[in-house]
Amino acid sequence: MASSFIPYGRQSLHPEDVQSILQTLESGWLTTGPQVETFEKAVADYLPMGHAIAVSSGTAALHCAMYAIEIGPGDEVIVPPLTFAATSNAVLYQGGTPVFADVDPETLSIDPVSVRERLTGKTRAIVAVDYAGQPCDYKALRAIADEVGLVLIADSCHSLGAGDAFGKCGTHADLSVFSFHPVKPITTAEGGMIVTRQKDWADRMRCFRNHGITTDHRQRQAKGAWHYEMVELGFNYRLSDLQCSLGLSQMKKIDSFVAERNKQATRYRQALQSCPGIEPLAVRENCLHGHHLFVVRTEKRDELFQFLRERDIGSAVHYPPVHLHPYYRQTLQTGPGLCPVAEEASDRILSLPIFPGLGSDEQERVIEALQEFGR
Ligand SMILES: *Cc1c(COP(=O)(O)O)cnc(C)c1O
Repeated sequence: MASSFIPYGRQSLHPEDVQSILQTLESGWLTTGPQVETFEKAVADYLPMGHAIAVSSGTAALHCAMYAIEIGPGDEVIVPPLTFAATSNAVLYQGGTPVFADVDPETLSIDPVSVRERLTGKTRAIVAVDYAGQPCDYKALRAIADEVGLVLIADSCHSLGAGDAFGKCGTHADLSVFSFHPVKPITTAEGGMIVTRQKDWADRMRCFRNHGITTDHRQRQAKGAWHYEMVELGFNYRLSDLQCSLGLSQMKKIDSFVAERNKQATRYRQALQSCPGIEPLAVRENCLHGHHLFVVRTEKRDELFQFLRERDIGSAVHYPPVHLHPYYRQTLQTGPGLCPVAEEASDRILSLPIFPGLGSDEQERVIEALQEFGR
């Protein structure tokens, strides 16, 4: 068989996904229509959470969350550095200040001990990122948030379908955010969602995603009224009916997607026992890992990346620490030494291919390459 390129992540689409989009195309609704609410309800019921608001991306979802809790100039929000820049960019969109807390050396998710050290009188919220798809230590984070009176936000862009003894990811925090980018647990091409139990926040975010206008086109059409008012400065962060119909058909498969990722992760862990110098990250006890990413640590990271690349195997680094990006260094005067655990990890980590459509023959090709690298 001719070898073809294996990416580190890819969407898993099936004929029923295509069918779902085609039906919506023929329904007459293209953007805000009945599929939006149906998709929101499907995610809310799955978790379960009281309110779900579909938006145009995970980034828009993070912005909505910061808007809902009225982050503004002078407010500090604690974030981890091993994440996509969007997590902390959302704080900046609102004029707030992201404050970077270090990560736990075993799991690389935000370290509650470091969070405590970063608290000041200006701290308003903590954003926990379920790094690689693994739930954070929400028990410890909740204790800090409740003690000081902070909002706990979960960036669960990696962890739809994952969970722990306290519930599914998306239910632990006051506000949780998902992304439906093609490499994420389910996809709508581009898309995102915020879930919360708090109705006033949900109402604010629905308004914010539609320019700050109190009613949407569909509601006005149903009422036979033309009148509308813009009451806040919002954005066009709407997710289309077409995309929501894809999301709906993908949601039906979320548990099987996560099961498939876990099967692949187990195979990697078993194979890595005979690959000295390439170590998988730790998995916390009593949790269902989402395995959005399969991250390994090695001293020869750049060599391994190159070695895999030469064999048509994709891998990636998640992430270069956000506080070391030039924009952050310039605007927040951040730099090396601020989060030593994250900085050290970032030089050694590599994400290997893992996604529901990865064939077992393809995974064996990756494993053979890893074993060859070690010899
Ligand atoms: C993907 C991702 C985002 C941004 O989501 P988009 O849908 O790409 O805007 C934010 N945070 C994390 C942790 C992500 O992985």
